[in-house]
Amino acid sequence: MSEVLLSARNLTKKFGGLAAVNDVSVDLWRDRIHVVIGPNGAGKSTLTNLLSGDLPPTSGTIMLGGHDITRASPEQISRRGLGRSYQKTNIFLPFTVWDNVRLAAQSRTAQQPWNPLRWLQNAAQDAEVNERAESALELAGLTSRRTSIAGAASHGEQRQLEIAMTLATNPQVLLLDEPLAGMGVAEAERMVELLLRIKPQHAMMLVEHDIDAIFALADHLTVMVNGTVIASGLPADVRSDEGVQAAYLGE
Ligand code: ADP
Ligand code: MG
Repeated sequence: MSEVLLSARNLTKKFGGLAAVNDVSVDLWRDRIHVVIGPNGAGKSTLTNLLSGDLPPTSGTIMLGGHDITRASPEQISRRGLGRSYQKTNIFLPFTVWDNVRLAAQSRTAQQPWNPLRWLQNAAQDAEVNERAESALELAGLTSRRTSIAGAASHGEQRQLEIAMTLATNPQVLLLDEPLAGMGVAEAERMVELLLRIKPQHAMMLVEHDIDAIFALADHLTVMVNGTVIASGLPADVRSDEGVQAAYLGE
């Protein structure tokens, strides 16, 4: 059964006099993809940063899996099961795809300071880390790329790898800021398939611009303009909303 995994209420983030996010509420459900769209400067990335703990909100509350994480650090929030792309999961280009995923799989539980070679030695002896890495690799569709050097992988494969590394931390909630950015048609289609494949086990929020992908993926669509939500609901309803068409879709 579907359940709310993350619930944010009345989030506001002010930078000086500017409310980059203004009284925004979001619920993220398991097995549902929540897409956030809006023009540049709308506050989409700031909202993502509030949910992941990278920025503290000026006001409002965030609950994750029944715990108040409003003032928690990104590390605490990650341990509670929220994963976001490009946070600690930076690809280590000289290493193989498999080693990158194994390093990410360790990052959530590692007690020692960052030392990739030491960590990989430990990972080799840790059945749980290997299992988590293996299933993340498979979910991300990269099993056949295991031994490729990450730096030699295509742009699309590197984005898949970022998702695999995020999945390897075993998150329940995933925040992805423009996962299709810079992709060609075939790469974008592969990424849409990937996201649909991982959807059943996760609650997801995507910030995205690609219109085809938005309507292929979104169970729930939110439109932000100048920090404010101007429409939120089923994609078909939001699409036909006059205010949205005037403000954003320009149709
Ligand atoms: P989006 O991701 O929708 O393009 P952002 O969340 O990046 O929008 O930015 C929303 C607004 O907040 C913009 O006007 C931006 O200039 C401003 N902003 C974002 N981050 C900061 C910051 N760290 N300090 C000051 N202003 C910021
Ligand atoms: Mg942004």
